[in-house]
Amino acid sequence: MNSGTTHHITPCQSNFKDYSLVKGTICLGDKSTVNQIGIGTVVFKSPQGYEITLSNVLHVPAIKMHFMSTCTLMQKGALVTFDQRAFKIVHKKHCVAIGYLKDNLYWLDAEGSSLNPHTRGAATSLHTWHQHMGHMSHATLKAHGPSAVKGMDLRSSTMDIPTICYGCKLSKSTCKPLPGSTKTMSRILEIVHSNLAGPMQTKSIQGSSYIATFVDDHSCHAVIYFLKTKNQFAAALQKFLSWAETQTSDKLHALHSDRGGKYMAANVKDILSQRGIEHHLTMPGSLHQNGKDE
Ligand SMILES: [Zn+2]
Repeated sequence: MNSGTTHHITPCQSNFKDYSLVKGTICLGDKSTVNQIGIGTVVFKSPQGYEITLSNVLHVPAIKMHFMSTCTLMQKGALVTFDQRAFKIVHKKHCVAIGYLKDNLYWLDAEGSSLNPHTRGAATSLHTWHQHMGHMSHATLKAHGPSAVKGMDLRSSTMDIPTICYGCKLSKSTCKPLPGSTKTMSRILEIVHSNLAGPMQTKSIQGSSYIATFVDDHSCHAVIYFLKTKNQFAAALQKFLSWAETQTSDKLHALHSDRGGKYMAANVKDILSQRGIEHHLTMPGSLHQNGKDE
């Protein structure tokens, strides 16, 4: 533990549940002093969902961060443990809060504020504002923050954009779009996208429960065959190839499909290889990579 803070400190009066005006002077680690103007109780919710009540919290508007004093927590019977990546507050055998290490400081994301259990007299960093403002993007914060929020000053030296925000990483992680087939072929039958859908919940009047589709990449012309069983797919492929090649006097160069069982079947591979048609496969489960047919 390396805390230099002897009291919990907040710069915001709005954080207090009860509050009284008590003037005083706080001595910072760099030997400078700042004015305390009030004292009171702050209640917040930890990321683990526990309501934590901090009493005798000092109101110091000049300090631009919230500080939680580890020694004060320990005096109240809480056990605070730190390791290389995080810290834990354990109270009455319950782990009531887990924070994380970032930029050599331990942070705790509380509802509506970020509490720092160490002392540092620094301007509010872009990252702290990012957390205050509901994890708004750094670019938007920089562009609109100072004009929209009173007291937001983003000109100081702590404006480096952090590479990772723990909260964003947890809640906003998304899958980047896969490289799709954005380019379109310049002639018909250069690539045909195919898919076999089914079995459908309800069979058609003629008893079909599968649909085989063939979509030309260049023209987007779609041909659909209704199949009673999956095994009819090879026949549908034959039928499509005969129809397409006769109608266009051209030959199919490549068939694009997923790795579904029917496309990997020996008889389908035979048809394609005998005609010299390349078989392009998309990743399993990546329907949008196909781009056309799905
Ligand atoms: Zn964030």
